[in-house]
Amino acid sequence: MAEKSFKYIILGGGVSAGYAAREFEKQGVKPGELAIISKEAVWFSRLSTLVLCISHITLNYISRWLLMNAPRSAKGAARLPGFHVCVGSGGEPQPPEWYTEKGITLILSTEIVKADLVSKTLTSAAGDTFIYEVLIIATGSTVLRLEDFGIEGANLKNIFYLREIEDADKLVQAIGNKKDGKALVVGGGYIGLELSSALIVNNFQVSMVYPEPWCMPRLFTADMAAFYEGYYTKKGVNIIKGTVAAGFVSNDNGEVKEVKLKDGRVEEADMVVVGVGAKPLINLFKGQVEEEKGGIKFYGDNAGDSVVFGDHDPASEKPKFGTYWLKDGKVVGAFLEGGTPEENTAISNVAKVQPSASSLESLASEGLEFASKI
Ligand SMILES: Cc1cc2nc3c(=O)[nH]c(=O)nc-3n(C[C@H](O)[C@H](O)[C@H](O)COP(=O)(O)OP(=O)(O)OC[C@H]3O[C@@H](n4cnc5c(N)ncnc54)[C@H](O)[C@@H]3O)c2cc1C
Repeated sequence: MAEKSFKYIILGGGVSAGYAAREFEKQGVKPGELAIISKEAVWFSRLSTLVLCISHITLNYISRWLLMNAPRSAKGAARLPGFHVCVGSGGEPQPPEWYTEKGITLILSTEIVKADLVSKTLTSAAGDTFIYEVLIIATGSTVLRLEDFGIEGANLKNIFYLREIEDADKLVQAIGNKKDGKALVVGGGYIGLELSSALIVNNFQVSMVYPEPWCMPRLFTADMAAFYEGYYTKKGVNIIKGTVAAGFVSNDNGEVKEVKLKDGRVEEADMVVVGVGAKPLINLFKGQVEEEKGGIKFYGDNAGDSVVFGDHDPASEKPKFGTYWLKDGKVVGAFLEGGTPEENTAISNVAKVQPSASSLESLASEGLEFASKI
């Protein structure tokens, strides 16, 4: 069994690994010092998964709401190369040759089955060992399933998730089989919003159910969410907030036909799509790292107060709005919907530079102009 040693190892070959490799390169990592180990057979196949999901069911990476606005001829349009890791944030594409050129070793088709953080050794399913000085864990997440919560009927046919390419294939097939049917989307996060859009575009009657007071509550402020909820409603999505799916009823074929909500309502559904989150894949490190909320403890900080600026009326022809987050006199975060490429660059610059600002009120009144001065 082979043994290899590297100064740095990134475990996982997904999105984070791509960004980390770019940063290593920027910091001047020397040829041979860095290796990336991934169980995927193809570099960035997870990202390709997303690209494929996106091209299959026409999700728009940058502006979800635009999707429902897009002409039907836009369906299926692939968005490479803009979708490559790091291109979206202004970097160069990172195909496998990029890594070879930079002296970064890609070790594919290699699943790590044991990690010993004391001896700094990873062991693969084939029995090979990899020694590191510094390990970066980038193993990603796995989807949370309703069966995990013991929900009645959660394993019925036509209840779908979206994480892997196989999930996307099944979903695309069901969309074809249940043409113009009724779909219920469980969850008001990224997956819920994206899938509701895709289902509307495919002529489904869509209801979306989530327990929170607004969609994407961990990312959107109430003002930001109000725009998207208004827009989705205008496009025909029936948003049901403040409750959850509590059970599923089947027809004679074992397919879902009704969803029982916790508040007593019952919704008809030919198919259900579930997007209730993901859990970090940290089994390899159990007992070796400090855990918090099902993942490795994150030593971070939360962003201060927020203010929305611009036209965030969902009924507008061309809404364009943004949000700034202000903390201790500094703008620590920025968001923009409907911006031009130049405006998007200006906004991302604000997030990078974190300039000072006197108050939320001044940021609200200056809006994009504030960003253009940075
Ligand atoms: C359908 C869908 C759409 C999305 N859309 C967006 C979007 O529009 N914008 C956005 O910012 N985010 C989006 N996301 C989220 C984004 O994909 C994730 O945030 C991102 O992939 C996380 O990056 P990661 O590197 O942590 O994990 P991943 O990209 O999942 O990579 C983890 C890698 O680790 C490998 N791995 C795991 N365990 C092992 C092991 N034991 N041995 C070897 N290799 C291992 C995996 O095979 C994988 O290659 C979307 C997600 C999905 C599912």
